[in-house]
Amino acid sequence: MNDTPSWWRAPLARLGAWREERALARRAIPDDLWALTLLRLPFLARLRDDDVAELRRLCSLFLDRKQFHGVGGLAVTDDMALLIAAQACLPVLRLGLGLYDAFVGIVVHPDEVVAQRSVMDEDGIVHEYEENLTGEAMSGGPLMLAWSDVRDAAEGADWAYNVVIHEFAHVIDMAAGPADGVPPLPDAAARARWIAVIDGAYEDFCALVDAGVDTVVDPYGAEAVEEFFAVAVEAFFVAGVPFRRESPAMYTLLSDYFQQDPASA
Ligand SMILES: [Zn+2]
Repeated sequence: MNDTPSWWRAPLARLGAWREERALARRAIPDDLWALTLLRLPFLARLRDDDVAELRRLCSLFLDRKQFHGVGGLAVTDDMALLIAAQACLPVLRLGLGLYDAFVGIVVHPDEVVAQRSVMDEDGIVHEYEENLTGEAMSGGPLMLAWSDVRDAAEGADWAYNVVIHEFAHVIDMAAGPADGVPPLPDAAARARWIAVIDGAYEDFCALVDAGVDTVVDPYGAEAVEEFFAVAVEAFFVAGVPFRRESPAMYTLLSDYFQQDPASA
């Protein structure tokens, strides 16, 4: 005998949809604030109307799921949180917010943060040094951002720079294990294809940087393949046309993955 009511049979899907509707209502973005955000991020102008609507929907869900913490005397206002959300949601416009599920907290500093680092050399001697950070993504979170750089996103796009997209690219990378420039992919064959393309593109990029060429992609990417992935994702989304010219293979790889084509819009 089965007298389970029908509404109980697909509880997860129903619950998920109900939760999403509640979150969208709770975090509805006022029209004027949304218009201001689009003005502040001119690289979003390429998006079609339905993409803009989807980005706005994702922003509401993102704001509902993440917690912002201002530090160093910084109070994170609604328009600041939305400016971060809109840039964070752009890469996952077609992939969904599940890629960001591993963390909740976003810590916003007023300016760059000086981090004390130490590294051990091959003789076992520990060297202390300082590193200036504009953002940092750690496995399991929280994610750190410097507001000074988030705020200047429009100007940054002129040199293919975007700190929010950079750090969220690391989050996407780490959704498939330790940061190595390989995001979650459907199977081993797709992973092997990805590695072949990014390794080739990374080698070509390092050769350009070594030769002193003024690259579109931030030369910081030559540090390691996972940094190359993050700076390439920045360039893809905010400087698509020059990036495609510089690194067509990498552009195609990212375009297929993110299901977006910023250079052609
Ligand atoms: Zn990085």
